[in-house]
Amino acid sequence: MNNFWKGLFFVRKCVVCGKALPDAGENTVFCADCFRNYRKLRADVCAHCGKTENACRCVPKKLWGKIGFSAHLFTFYGPLSRTIVYTAKLRNLPYLQRFLAHELSDLIREATRDDFSDFTVTFAPRNPRRVAVCGFDQAEVLARLTAERLHLPFARMFRHTYFSSLQKRLNAAEREINANNSYFLREDFVPQTKKLLIFDDVITTGSTLSTLVSLAKLAGFREVSIVCIAKASA
Ligand SMILES: [Zn+2]
Ligand SMILES: [Zn+2]
Repeated sequence: MNNFWKGLFFVRKCVVCGKALPDAGENTVFCADCFRNYRKLRADVCAHCGKTENACRCVPKKLWGKIGFSAHLFTFYGPLSRTIVYTAKLRNLPYLQRFLAHELSDLIREATRDDFSDFTVTFAPRNPRRVAVCGFDQAEVLARLTAERLHLPFARMFRHTYFSSLQKRLNAAEREINANNSYFLREDFVPQTKKLLIFDDVITTGSTLSTLVSLAKLAGFREVSIVCIAKASA
């Protein structure tokens, strides 16, 4: 199908409000109004450290002292943040994935002050049943695209078992037990760098990430950092 017909049948829509974007550039995901709101969301100030989202490195207590840095694009609070996160989780939209990978690459450059050469990029894998339903794992896609952008090695180093309940249905104590029993290092994985960046979509209690950080250190990484789309408002 040539571009003219593609244009007629598949006009790109704003991922938030659904408004058609007939003249959208390759990585445009929002209409002008929603883009303005997105910029506002990113410019919010953290209630704990008083810094903007770009500079906030706050993490749940569980991760204190365990990680290099943690960076996120925005706080998971309000309809716009929810729409972006759920769209990224449920719909396999390459232009949204490219946009988020671009944003996350900038965030990593900022958090590492452009010194990211010794990092390997990986992700917190979703329950394989969820991956089977959605057809993709958004954290894996974002980690892979971002690694490509930054010319960093990408590794699938964790396994998630079939048998865990969905993490979001559990309370904090149950989450911790579940996370500890749900993730494993891939047997054949050997670190090629000293530092690791783990991608996840939303950082909530930090249970899953705390487990993955411990596993990464067991594997031999000296420093483990975290990159998320959003951080739950604590
Ligand atoms: Zn819109
Ligand atoms: Zn903060």
